Amino acid sequence: MKDTDFCTCKDFACPCHPSNHDKGCTPCILKNRRQKEIPACFFKDIDCQKPTDGWHYEDFAELVKTAKDKGVL
Ligand code: SF4
Repeated sequence: MKDTDFCTCKDFACPCHPSNHDKGCTPCILKNRRQKEIPACFFKDIDCQKPTDGWHYEDFAELVKTAKDKGVL
């Protein structure tokens, strides 16, 4: 399986997206860690509307909390 097969991120304009190079998830992970963010695929794994606009650790924590409160996680 290629990384592009399972990547659920739709930001195809991002230079880190696996469709734009042959380095798999590595550039995305490095960029996210540098910015203290969580990759989009983790957000998309949770079937719940994001309660915040950002992609930082705190935004993911808010999404997890919201999903748990709604009983979808
Ligand atoms: S880590 Fe980044 S590149 Fe890899 S699947 Fe998730 S969003 Fe896509």
